[in-house]
Amino acid sequence: MNNRRGSLLVISGPSGIGKGTVCAELMKRCERLCFSISCTTRPMRPGDEEGVTYFFKTEEEFDRMIREDRFLEYAGMYGKRYGTPRAFVQEKMEAGMDVLLDIETQGALQVMQKAKGDVTSVFLLPPSMQELHSRLIGRGTETPEKAEMRFKSAYNEVDLARQYDFVIVNDRLEETVEAVKAILEASHYRPERAYTHIDALKKEETNP
Ligand code: ADP
Ligand code: 5GP
Repeated sequence: MNNRRGSLLVISGPSGIGKGTVCAELMKRCERLCFSISCTTRPMRPGDEEGVTYFFKTEEEFDRMIREDRFLEYAGMYGKRYGTPRAFVQEKMEAGMDVLLDIETQGALQVMQKAKGDVTSVFLLPPSMQELHSRLIGRGTETPEKAEMRFKSAYNEVDLARQYDFVIVNDRLEETVEAVKAILEASHYRPERAYTHIDALKKEETNP
């Protein structure tokens, strides 16, 4: 690895594309990878667990965290807010661990701008809009109306794929997970990570 600092891997894409599924698989396969647990003001759903899927916050608590600058990024979706706690990400990366973010597109673009040299971004696209629709409905976690709303926003979101470092069509899960794993490995060799070493090389005496 070019330096000891961990990478920040952002997985983004429209709701229902498979971000959560891909992230869960990655966590099983990548030893040095930590998952960043977000804060949200949305209500708990069946299967949610405080401190495992999210840290559930009131609107007031979330506002306080914004004022105290405790988010690396945050965004609003359908009247609820989601944010990435900054401290966890920083601590883990400084300790040499890679950090995985499963976040929607507004937040992803913020992280990509703020933490440029540290971030590697991956956008997941559906093989077809029809397939995205059946995944979103098939998951059954939202009411059909809410699922339809999420599906409609996907039409605008797919265009954002152009701004990411990598784009993967999440057709076969196994291929997607292996591709993301390879991208994470390659992220350790981003040129920004070699800047300190390059500077040190230039200062070395030319006296072989
Ligand atoms: P997101 O986190 O992006 O909202 P999920 O991970 O919850 O999406 O996935 C939505 C649904 O699609 C889930 O039911 C999941 O099992 C399914 N899914 C994810 N990836 C694939 C894939 N490659 N092929 C078929 N179904 C998938
Ligand atoms: P859900 O309500 O289905 O758990 O998540 C809705 C969306 O919020 C998902 O697309 C997920 O990627 C996104 N999300 C989860 N945590 C964060 C976060 O910390 N920041 C941002 N910007 N989006 C998040």
